[in-house]
Amino acid sequence: MVIKLIFFLIGAIVGSFLNSAIYRLPRRKSLLFPGSYCPQCGHKIHYWDNVPLLSYLVLKGKCRHCRKNIPVRYLLVELLTASLFTVFYILYGLSYEFLFYITLLIVLIIVTFTDLETKRVLNIVVFTGAVLAFYMSLIFWPLNFIYSLIGFLTGGGVLIFWAVIGKLLFKKESLGYGDIKLAAMIGIFLGLQNTLLALFLSFSLATLIGIFMIMLKKARMDSKIPFAPFLALGSLLSLIWSDELFSLYWKIIG
Ligand SMILES: [Zn+2]
Repeated sequence: MVIKLIFFLIGAIVGSFLNSAIYRLPRRKSLLFPGSYCPQCGHKIHYWDNVPLLSYLVLKGKCRHCRKNIPVRYLLVELLTASLFTVFYILYGLSYEFLFYITLLIVLIIVTFTDLETKRVLNIVVFTGAVLAFYMSLIFWPLNFIYSLIGFLTGGGVLIFWAVIGKLLFKKESLGYGDIKLAAMIGIFLGLQNTLLALFLSFSLATLIGIFMIMLKKARMDSKIPFAPFLALGSLLSLIWSDELFSLYWKIIG
């Protein structure tokens, strides 16, 4: 129990760095300097106002200096990272797998929230993720390197295929280059089988949410909905529940 709590706290601290990265990377600001500051008034945030999770609640989501609202994303990212650190610890213990998949998790969180806020999938994040994934795969499980390579080609290949089909059918770009690169990077982490499952889940969820948003008149048929968050969600679901989902699948078709 104590060790799970420790992983939750480490996750919350990592989440607070991810929040800063999500704000700074698209603006090409340094990740290290200066220290934390309010994005609205620029005032330095003291360490006692910078405690992950707690400060947001104590300050009721407002900056101490300018009293403007701090986006709820700050709380959400900290909570999400903390929870998933705990889940990954339960799944993998302290192991190479834990490090490998936490790296994927960190990339997915940054990519999801920067895509939601700026409608861009950041090359630097996807590229760094891909290099780390190949490197870790090579040193942890050299025999599985081919597995990662096949995942990379599958992720990229399926999305290129869909981008071409989408262009032929709807005469417009349905997927961006960023989404294709992201799917290829996810493939390095997940390998062939889980990448296919992740893509299937991502497309299904995106279609469902898209229909739902059109029904609620929040989107139109030709609206561009960011796809990276769906890729991230599909990848996490496939990582955590692939065994259950595959056995369900065999039960249904068997
Ligand atoms: Zn402020």
